[in-house]
Amino acid sequence: MKKVILIKYGELTTKKDNRNFFIKTLKKNIFKKLSSFSFDIIDDYYRMFIIPKNDDIDSIVSKLKDIFGIHEIVIALRSEDRSLENIKKLSFDIISESEGNTFKVVTNRSDKSYPIHSMDMNDKIGGHILRNTKLKVDVHNPDILLNVEIRRDYVYVYESGISGLGGYPVGTLGRALLMLSGGIDSPVAGFQTIKRGVELYYLYFESRPHTSIEARNKVISLARKLERYNSSGKLFVVNFTKIQETIYKNLDQDYLITFMRRKMYEIAERIAKRNNCLAIVNGESVGQVASQTLKSIIAVNDVTNYPILRPLCSFDKLEIIDISKRIDTYETSILPYEDCCTIFVPRHPVINPDLHHIYEEESKYDFKELVDEAVSSVEIVDLTEKKNELL
Ligand code: ATP
Ligand code: MG
Repeated sequence: MKKVILIKYGELTTKKDNRNFFIKTLKKNIFKKLSSFSFDIIDDYYRMFIIPKNDDIDSIVSKLKDIFGIHEIVIALRSEDRSLENIKKLSFDIISESEGNTFKVVTNRSDKSYPIHSMDMNDKIGGHILRNTKLKVDVHNPDILLNVEIRRDYVYVYESGISGLGGYPVGTLGRALLMLSGGIDSPVAGFQTIKRGVELYYLYFESRPHTSIEARNKVISLARKLERYNSSGKLFVVNFTKIQETIYKNLDQDYLITFMRRKMYEIAERIAKRNNCLAIVNGESVGQVASQTLKSIIAVNDVTNYPILRPLCSFDKLEIIDISKRIDTYETSILPYEDCCTIFVPRHPVINPDLHHIYEEESKYDFKELVDEAVSSVEIVDLTEKKNELL
């Protein structure tokens, strides 16, 4: 008898045509995440079994909890001995470690040549448990659901498992570019996007010396925290200083944030296209600040027709904080290093920006060269190199 891990797929059951691709990607992601362990994988259309070669089942399970595309993680007992006596014994082992007063046995016999039919097996195992424990049967809402799965090579016996993260396997829906600031919102926006199977590259605009090296390291730390779920390893850092200073010196102060964000989107689009990112993602939430009113979003979005995903558009701040705590980015996000948007803050930020005024103001200065320079001088930080870690 051996303890193995059974994985039930998440939402990918709805993707009939793509199913094999989803399963293959999930398997690849599992191999990558568990690269320090030694194990075999057996998969089919409905589930996957991970068979650890050493005694490290709990460490493997804790890693699997961070992989999207997994609906449920179950520790199952597997045995080559498919005799009724042995199945009774395995069932008893599982039951004696489970909590509850009622149970139900569900047998699945994928090997149709096995001599005992599923219903008979349910009765035999159920009777055995009734005779030897104080448990009662409840077929509608049992505390313990005992599964017996009889396959050609092995029998598996297990109870319900723990929930996985759900969502789609990362990479099945292509790649996007996450605008990652040091705040609370953008890492959560990233997490929500990864959940939909989208791999992320990260993009950070910095304005040295107005922003500090600590601010950059904070973003690197946040990206690394997201890498627990994503693992693309790539952060782009754009030197935004000249653009920001030029806007500050030459254009209408009340529109500072609008101009800055327009330039950010413009640059983000170019970097996204160059790196096969099919969308830009950010942490905007409708109404949260002046630059996130619907009119501000129109004014900023006006520079691009590239898809901009705003996974947090309808989230309250408290909901966002909740997720950030769960994914362990909160404590890093609240470190007090200033972001480029918080340094050049206008006294009366506009909440209803006017596009004609924007065009007029922007025509006062030719930004083309500065934008080209920012794009061509983008720096790539390799997130797999362990340095500059803050929290
Ligand atoms: P956050 O908490 O994510 O910083 P915020 O509420 O502070 O968001 P803004 O500063 O208006 O909101 O920024 C909105 C979004 O724009 C951010 O969520 C992020 O996606 C992007 N963004 C802002 N500043 C930067 C930056 N310096 N580099 C990269 N992206 C940025
Ligand atoms: Mg911010």
